[in-house]
Amino acid sequence: MIRLLRELERRLEAAGLPRGEAWDLLGLATGLPRKALFLKLREPPPPGSEARAMALLEKRLSGYPLQYLLGEVEFFGLPLRVEEGVLIPRPETEGLVALALGLPLPPRPRILDVGAGTGAIALALKRHLPEAEVYATEVDPKALALAEENARRLGLPVAFLPASLTGGLRGLDLVVANPPYLPEAYRESAPKELAFENPLALYAGPEGLSVARPLAQEAWEALRAGGFLLLELAPENVHLLAQELRERGWEGVEVLRDLAGRDRYLRARRPPE
Ligand code: GLN
Repeated sequence: MIRLLRELERRLEAAGLPRGEAWDLLGLATGLPRKALFLKLREPPPPGSEARAMALLEKRLSGYPLQYLLGEVEFFGLPLRVEEGVLIPRPETEGLVALALGLPLPPRPRILDVGAGTGAIALALKRHLPEAEVYATEVDPKALALAEENARRLGLPVAFLPASLTGGLRGLDLVVANPPYLPEAYRESAPKELAFENPLALYAGPEGLSVARPLAQEAWEALRAGGFLLLELAPENVHLLAQELRERGWEGVEVLRDLAGRDRYLRARRPPE
């Protein structure tokens, strides 16, 4: 199998992909966990696995995301199931969760994640704030089912609601979301991996605010006085929405950076009474 592994590494590297993915492809092709692969590296590949490995490689080289091949992704330390049609959770969104955990929330906060996707944000928050009452809305039935499956597998009780935006909830301490936020025009120049993800989870009109803007408007009603709004956005539109929120009377409106140093998050507070 060494020869096959080296071949996979060489082809991945030539395409500008991390060579470490060769282990993942070999694991998928053989059905063997990493440790078993390591021990059997000197043996010939199991029957059929070489052809499977090459087919997986071609798919990967076409830009198909590794996470969809694996059907799993790690988010904020949680193993989450992910599948085609549902957005792959990103490291930027781990930053959003970290910001949420740093907010001065009451002891039993009521939290809403808008647009659950895999359930990443809601589940990570429930894991770290076990006393919280966590809700998540999601309009896509496939994503909703997957989020529920993830909650079940992880034993994290989150109320997933088949609803759009805030779903009419009231009295919340935090509304958090990673809404679709890419400007439509970005689609043409987007990296090819993005083409395999659900465009509804990525793009949001000419400014990328066609979801975030109405979401912020509804969040005002959904939050209690003093409650927080926390959004992940794009460097191209985060300042625009921040300015709009200041004009509408939100307090403490701030733009925060991601780990790559890009303006990425918007934090605001409905004024305390
Ligand atoms: N909340 C989910 C995530 O962060 C899905 C977000 C989306 O589909 N835009 O992964």
